[in-house]
Amino acid sequence: MSRMDIQTRLTEFGIAVTSQRLEVAGILLDKPQHLAADQILAMLRKKGSRVSKATVYNTLHLFAEKGLVRALHVDPSRTFYDSTIHPHHHFYHVDIGELSDIPDEQIRIMNLPPLPPGTELENVDVLIKIRDRKI
Ligand SMILES: [Zn+2]
Repeated sequence: MSRMDIQTRLTEFGIAVTSQRLEVAGILLDKPQHLAADQILAMLRKKGSRVSKATVYNTLHLFAEKGLVRALHVDPSRTFYDSTIHPHHHFYHVDIGELSDIPDEQIRIMNLPPLPPGTELENVDVLIKIRDRKI
């Protein structure tokens, strides 16, 4: 995605464009992927960026709040940010701490419990935790 495209995307989601936000979005929106803040920070550092850790965390939080990316709380110690925002589900490989996508149509949800009074269904996110098979 070009710098111009990223700028347009930020604006579409109501996010004011700053050079730091362009840098963070440039990494995450590069392809369909799931990255934690520390991974994005490491990638920025590798490219010679001087964006602070706090800025990276705050920027990702803002992106998720505005709907530009999806925050996935798979692990209490780590939030992953997903560059794909259309509905889909995930495998989480616990041994390597990596997420991969499951297309929405591959999971059919049946027999949902009755919703609490006064609520309506927003969405159902399925997270399937997997690990290497032990021989
Ligand atoms: Zn995903």
